[in-house]
Amino acid sequence: MATLSLRDVKKRFGKTDVIHGVDLDVAEGEFIVIVGPSGCGKSTLLRMAAGLETVTSGEISIGGRVVNDLEPMERDIAMVFQNYALYPHMSVFDNISYGLKIAKMPKAEIAERVAVAAKMLQLEPYLDRKPRELSGGQRQRVAMGRAIVRKPAVFLFDEPLSNLDAKLRVQMRLEIKALQRDLGITSLYVTHDQVEAMTLADRMVVMNGGVADQIGAPLEVYANPATVFVAGFIGSPA
Ligand code: ADP
Ligand code: MG
Repeated sequence: MATLSLRDVKKRFGKTDVIHGVDLDVAEGEFIVIVGPSGCGKSTLLRMAAGLETVTSGEISIGGRVVNDLEPMERDIAMVFQNYALYPHMSVFDNISYGLKIAKMPKAEIAERVAVAAKMLQLEPYLDRKPRELSGGQRQRVAMGRAIVRKPAVFLFDEPLSNLDAKLRVQMRLEIKALQRDLGITSLYVTHDQVEAMTLADRMVVMNGGVADQIGAPLEVYANPATVFVAGFIGSPA
């Protein structure tokens, strides 16, 4: 059974159809990357999965449960954005543990979970610092830490690396890949960057104007693009 399923999901803003009916199953432990140009509907699709945007029609399930009418907090997901959305006045520890405190988790378990995440993300020396005292890469790791400690069924990433410089972006890409290997995190990851998609994805969804043109393993998509658009955006130049 898929951990996350989209069934003929559509979105309309006013009179404009933005998502035209997307079907997708994300298996447990699978890392799916949605890639496509700016404006093709990637964020809208992710935000519907997160519960930040209503679904016009179709069905979204997480862990076998239809979540269309559930609030974000009820969906067993964690989201990582490009702007980190850290609390500037809180320490790294408090930023990472905030969601657990809200959920009234016992202090000892919070400390244990933060310790594990901090070790994994090389944040142990920085737990008392404020976000402004960190580098861009460290801030992005704090945002990752906050998602990891919640142990959600599904991680949703919206262009988490696009504010970083090119060198750091490559490094963080490798770190996310390593986390994925170590934790087996089930993920839906959005990017406009083809190389990022090819590097991270178990399978990729190539989106074009609100339609999933092709879903497949990176090399399969690269070698056998399903449409002219996919060929131009991803495919081999043969
Ligand atoms: P992407 O993330 O791929 O760049 P988006 O999902 O942000 O694309 O946007 C897809 C389309 O939906 C765009 O044409 C955008 O202008 C439109 N759109 C996104 N959010 C809204 C909104 N709240 N109201 C109206 N139109 C929107
Ligand atoms: Mg977007």
